[in-house]
Amino acid sequence: MSQRRTAIVTGGGSGIGRATAHRLASGGITVAILDVNGEAAENVAKEITHQGDEAIAFGSVDVSDRAQVNAAVEQVHNTLGPVLVLVNNAGVTEFDRFLNISDDLWDRVMAVNLNGTFYCTQAVLPDMIAAKWGRIVNISSSSTYSGQPFMTHYVAAKSAVVGLTKALALEFGPKGVTVNTIPPGFVDTPMLRRAEKSGFLGGSVDEHAQRTPVRRSGRPEDIANACAFLVSDEAGYITGQIFGVNGGRNT
Ligand code: NAP
Repeated sequence: MSQRRTAIVTGGGSGIGRATAHRLASGGITVAILDVNGEAAENVAKEITHQGDEAIAFGSVDVSDRAQVNAAVEQVHNTLGPVLVLVNNAGVTEFDRFLNISDDLWDRVMAVNLNGTFYCTQAVLPDMIAAKWGRIVNISSSSTYSGQPFMTHYVAAKSAVVGLTKALALEFGPKGVTVNTIPPGFVDTPMLRRAEKSGFLGGSVDEHAQRTPVRRSGRPEDIANACAFLVSDEAGYITGQIFGVNGGRNT
């Protein structure tokens, strides 16, 4: 396929999403950046266009709000054409002891990490089915391999994203759509630095890096590069997979 494809990257205003938006755009994909922080999304779109690649931010979009997701995806479709690539990256976490987790906090962590993935995926699939080609990458978490104390709400939500990925892959493989998940492990982003400050990380980022087999923490670009491969034509026989990018922390 020679014409430019359009991708949506959620949470593209920071960290892994920002790096993924850059990486996909530098590979010739037009990137729509959806982020609850509209200003951050706008800044990333500007960085990309200044480099001569194509990206547009679509204001502030909260992926946990189905109406906002549907309106944004319709706007992307009308502006940039069919959406054939989706990276469900937007996520939130907070550390807390299980017995302290309120219903509101539980619901918010589920709403962004799980429901957001559900809403965005439902909104873009019609374009992919019509094109008989699509690529979806769901960013889950390495905590789904091992569990993580004080993150029960988050691990439950991200584990559900892994299950969603596998079931979607079976249902939409026959339609030309692949669905995979990348569970990142210990990637140096604003989210990880907030976790470090919270004191619940079990050591500093530097200490964790020294315990990691490759002796460094992850870079957002590590996840972005894996994402770029999974959304390529070359990855068409890969679906329903958990594609770990974690420096060997989980094997
Ligand atoms: P980050 O730096 O905090 O970036 C996340 C971006 O998503 C932020 O711009 C954030 O906006 C946005 N966002 C939050 N809630 C949203 C919503 N409801 N709708 C739309 N956008 C929203 O985090 P990151 O480390 O890059 O994480 C990216 C993904 O990787 C997340 O799903 C995270 O759970 C996952 N992950 C990260 C690590 C790691 O080591 N960093 C490990 C495992 C999994 P605000 O800043 O305004 O909230």
